[in-house]
Amino acid sequence: MPSSPEEAATEHPEITFIGCARCGTLIAGLDGRYACSGCGWVNEWTEGHRPLPEARRRRTCAPTADTTTDGTTAEDAPTRRPG
Ligand SMILES: [Zn+2]
Repeated sequence: MPSSPEEAATEHPEITFIGCARCGTLIAGLDGRYACSGCGWVNEWTEGHRPLPEARRRRTCAPTADTTTDGTTAEDAPTRRPG
């Protein structure tokens, strides 16, 4: 049975250890993600044991009121709601 990403995200992160790929120092990480404090090496986040919590997608491209040139504001524009 496949576990949903949301279900996995609610679990506590697991502390894991690995030898730094660059300098060999034993470093600790969470869920397979590491960052060496000695040399600054970090592994790919995709190597983590589970996907990162999905970032909330927000529309940030809405123009501000003082930058519009046609006289309309964001409040006047129809709101597009997904779904
Ligand atoms: Zn290192």
